[in-house]
Amino acid sequence: MSVMHGIPMTAVPVLFKAACPECRSRFELAAGALRLAIGGSRRTTFYSFTCPECGSSVRKPAGERIVELLTGGGVSTLRLHSTV
Ligand SMILES: [Zn+2]
Repeated sequence: MSVMHGIPMTAVPVLFKAACPECRSRFELAAGALRLAIGGSRRTTFYSFTCPECGSSVRKPAGERIVELLTGGGVSTLRLHSTV
């Protein structure tokens, strides 16, 4: 809820606001620092990044809007196909 707002629609490199649940630091990440995984349901759709402060691997659920923002911002997307 606290991430992904104020994304500028310009030619400058897109930065995504993110926060680390481990060390609670806040920072901005370039598209290349994020990974998006789109699964078959909301629970398997998430984005992940490595905290630049403490090095933790952070994984957070991605709603439709976040998916739109991330894909539109050039974040590499991995499509997961879960066998039902
Ligand atoms: Zn951290």
